[in-house]
Amino acid sequence: MEIPVAERLESIRTTLPQGVELVAVSKFHPVEKLQEAYAAGQRAFGESRVQELLSKTPQMPSDAVWHFIGHLQTNKVRALVPVVNVIQSVDSIRLLELINKEAARIDRVVDVMLQVHVAQEETKFGFSPDELCAELTPELVDRLKSVRIVGVMGMASNTDSESRIEQDFGRIAATFARLKKGVMANHPEFSEISMGMSDDYEIAVAYGATIVRIGSDIFGEREY
Ligand SMILES: *Cc1c(COP(=O)(O)O)cnc(C)c1O
Repeated sequence: MEIPVAERLESIRTTLPQGVELVAVSKFHPVEKLQEAYAAGQRAFGESRVQELLSKTPQMPSDAVWHFIGHLQTNKVRALVPVVNVIQSVDSIRLLELINKEAARIDRVVDVMLQVHVAQEETKFGFSPDELCAELTPELVDRLKSVRIVGVMGMASNTDSESRIEQDFGRIAATFARLKKGVMANHPEFSEISMGMSDDYEIAVAYGATIVRIGSDIFGEREY
């Protein structure tokens, strides 16, 4: 028998330390499942496709909080910016500039996170740690008034090797620390490390995650 979403949520919440936020990754799940999670107190949802997010937001209560976690194409930014709360997957300066421009156009400030690529798979998006630390200059951070850079986001390699996963999460956390000491030093809002999914979130938390993004452990196998 299938375990109800509320029960799955509760058992995950009990394993998370205080102060670690759970984003329920609801991509490829019907909105009924999201409503079940909402009824169980869940407010933050993660989606990886703009069209899917746009179709779900009007069907959910207005205090749901929407995190975009997928690769964002520049031609979708204009549609996403009015409805999203946090764009976690900013993987280029060009995209950051564009989000800023679209947010300014509608007089909004959007929370964003910078995606760090440390995994062994080449297909994953994101800045390398050195690239990010070089490209995110103080001038840029000052100039972009319509985005609030609240942290970094990353994924570990898709592997059974626990030591490789630990190494990856360690590198994401170290990149956060470099920026926090450097260009983001006077930015208290820069405070989040988003890492950890269903299979590896406990390791991520041990390495300093402040946000975990969990899908299948809450909603089961993706339905479409
Ligand atoms: C799908 C996805 C998740 C959730 O993955 P699960 O293994 O289902 O928990 C987390 N982060 C990102 C970026 C994803 O695309």
